[in-house]
Amino acid sequence: MKKMTLTTKIFIGLISGIILGLILYPMREVPFVTNYIIGFFLKLGGSIFINAIKMMVVPLVFISLTVGSSAMGDIKKLGRIGAKTLGFYLFTTAIAIVIALTFANLINPGAGLSADSIEKTAKTIKSSKSFVDVLIDIIPSNPIASMANGNMLQIISFALLTGAALTVLGDKVIRVKEVFNQANDLVLEMVNLIMLVAPFGVFCLITKTFATLGYTAMGPLLKYILTVIGALFIHGLFTYQGLLIAIVKMHPLVFFKKFLPAISVAFSTSSSGATIPVTLETVQEEFGVSKSVSSFTIPLGATINMDGTAILQGVAVVFIAAVYNVDLTMGDYVAVILTATLASIGTAGVPGVGLIMLSMVLTQVGLPIEGIALIMGVDRILDMARTAVNVTGDAVCTLIIAQTEGEKIDKDAKHIM
Ligand code: ASP
Repeated sequence: MKKMTLTTKIFIGLISGIILGLILYPMREVPFVTNYIIGFFLKLGGSIFINAIKMMVVPLVFISLTVGSSAMGDIKKLGRIGAKTLGFYLFTTAIAIVIALTFANLINPGAGLSADSIEKTAKTIKSSKSFVDVLIDIIPSNPIASMANGNMLQIISFALLTGAALTVLGDKVIRVKEVFNQANDLVLEMVNLIMLVAPFGVFCLITKTFATLGYTAMGPLLKYILTVIGALFIHGLFTYQGLLIAIVKMHPLVFFKKFLPAISVAFSTSSSGATIPVTLETVQEEFGVSKSVSSFTIPLGATINMDGTAILQGVAVVFIAAVYNVDLTMGDYVAVILTATLASIGTAGVPGVGLIMLSMVLTQVGLPIEGIALIMGVDRILDMARTAVNVTGDAVCTLIIAQTEGEKIDKDAKHIM
């Protein structure tokens, strides 16, 4: 019998987790289920897996980007890749919001609902950081603190500087370069080892989420949920796959087969940041993208490129406006496109932040921030779906940048599944 690949095993973990979670849901209050199955067994397996992949994020990003940027050779190439990456990320995010706004207006998920008809789940919503602080924050005053806090943009800028200095010093630091190269092999192997338990980790995380999701309370918001998921699908299938076919000439099935482990981990952890090691490893090992491109684009994308989050924010604005009976003008829509792009850049790649950043968009168009409380209760499942899209967007951009840099991308998916 053919040996099952890791991708297949992770997929089985995901599907069986959903099924078992739905079976456990009606029994979630039985003490044995709450205390032992959910509160001990599933929590243990899921949290250990999340911690293990998170453990690799900082060393992997720092080492891989230092190696990658020192191999880039010249500062011009870095500038070019940086500009292309930023441009591409902004472009796809804007498309994502336009899709969300169009789709939400067609479906009008808030029609006929009033703010009182929906159960509010939270009343206090934190506001977000100012734009100038976001920019200042890119340069760390203490790189060790950045690493300790897992601040991705700061780690990226420190790694780029280290890589640039290694390039300038050339052969004088050949041994330091060698250490970084070997350390890179080491952290990648550590990720490989952790991924061996990914099927089980994904299974535990998904079962626990579905067993406690509370989908019976979703009734009045079902249309809203389906609108977000519909817009995520349109963007994930048409925008991304269209770009991949047109620019990289890659068949969508090949992409999905190779990228499925990262999608599954993003879906089950709801965190682009925690998924970085898997995304990075997949684009390097499965698609053959160079370190100099991928170790820059993936952590950067996991931090600033959130198309799924932008989609959520677009649909949520239309929904909240309808519930509060506010008519949005064309000017409001343009403001939503601009602020949701910025808000998604400012959204950290951890669970639930996209919803908090929505406050920025709502304020911009004069909608009550309390509107967020209406949709908070069902955000868990949408967070999973949008994180999967966020991470897919990072990989698609990486493949396109690599292709335009003349790299040879591996499009052979024979050994997968
Ligand atoms: N959970 C999302 C992510 O990590 C961010 C969000 O809340 O939208 O990509």
